Amino acid sequence: GFRMGIVGLPNVGKSTLFNALTKTAAAQAANFPFCTIEPNVGEVAVPDSRLDKLAEIAQSKSIIPTRMTFVDIAGLVKGASKGEGLGNQFLANIRETDAIAHVLRCFEDDDVTHVDGRVDPVSDAETIETELIIADMESLEKRLQNIVRKVRGGDKEAVQQERLMKMALEMLEQGKPARLVEVDEDDIKQWKMLQLLSSKPVLYVCNVDEAEAATGNALSEKVAAMAAEQGNSHVVISAKIEEEISQLDAEEAEMFLGELGLEEAGLDRLIRAGYELLHLETYFTVGPKEARAWTIRTGTQAPQAAGVIHGDFEKGFIRAETIAYEDFIANGGEQGAKEAGKMRAEGKTYTVKDGDVLHFLFNT
Ligand code: GDP
Repeated sequence: GFRMGIVGLPNVGKSTLFNALTKTAAAQAANFPFCTIEPNVGEVAVPDSRLDKLAEIAQSKSIIPTRMTFVDIAGLVKGASKGEGLGNQFLANIRETDAIAHVLRCFEDDDVTHVDGRVDPVSDAETIETELIIADMESLEKRLQNIVRKVRGGDKEAVQQERLMKMALEMLEQGKPARLVEVDEDDIKQWKMLQLLSSKPVLYVCNVDEAEAATGNALSEKVAAMAAEQGNSHVVISAKIEEEISQLDAEEAEMFLGELGLEEAGLDRLIRAGYELLHLETYFTVGPKEARAWTIRTGTQAPQAAGVIHGDFEKGFIRAETIAYEDFIANGGEQGAKEAGKMRAEGKTYTVKDGDVLHFLFNT
């Protein structure tokens, strides 16, 4: 599955947010509830109202949402790349994630100490990014030395790697993240294998006070401007509210959100924003036994999409009976869609679309 790392300086609200994520009634009511794998790793159900509608029409016995993993990466402080705080261990944890949710303190509260003695989310963001950049530079310098002999020996892959490492270093030496390097299609695979921390996509999570959850505030607006300039995304959330919501049942939560002028829980927005950041899409499998959502990367072709369910589905792929979500709903389900001529037989080169309801046929 896909993993989001939650990072941020101490006392910005990471644990509050992570705990809320792990406890929400929505997550627990789902068939695949949030489950704590390790104390700081948890899976959450990706909220998707389409799945409920599909299940209702098909009278599916169970509903299984798709999931996303969150990792609470504590211990990032200034100097982490030099081994301060949890230092290297923490950096290794980030390496294993697909994207970073960077929590920024956008609330004022004299009772909560700020590590630098002032509330300035833009400067906090720079502090963390600088640590990632330094860590990347150090690891690249080491790896460049290690690769020298292979490059001299004419190893093609090593030559390609060396070129990419140098491109990255050049960017990092300007104090900019590796994310900004433009990588050719042919280089993408090797580039990803470098696993640079500063190349991961970033979602800024502005943690604001309860009263400002619906509107944001001056600090979250600064973050929004920074995010836009960097090409990153951002969400405004009040971790405190999310913590309170996580202790309510679904009905109570809805009332509480209404009182606050919020349409949906911030966590739902956060999860969806993470989904978009990673260019993920959902397809569905629907039957009387279960209605289930599956995650793929945008642009995935039918056999590989089938492979998310089982490797054999991909190997023996014949075709995918496909109904678009809207057609499934508009025609009252599979039978109706079929009769209306809305079921397509798609082959190996079909690019699956978000919301497709699929039934795979395969050889065993
Ligand atoms: P972490 O170190 O980043 O994991 O931060 P915590 O989640 O432990 O939060 C640090 C402190 O800030 C705790 O006392 C929280 O209750 C408090 N806190 C978190 N979010 C908010 C907020 O939106 N407003 C206020 N006033 N306090 C918050």
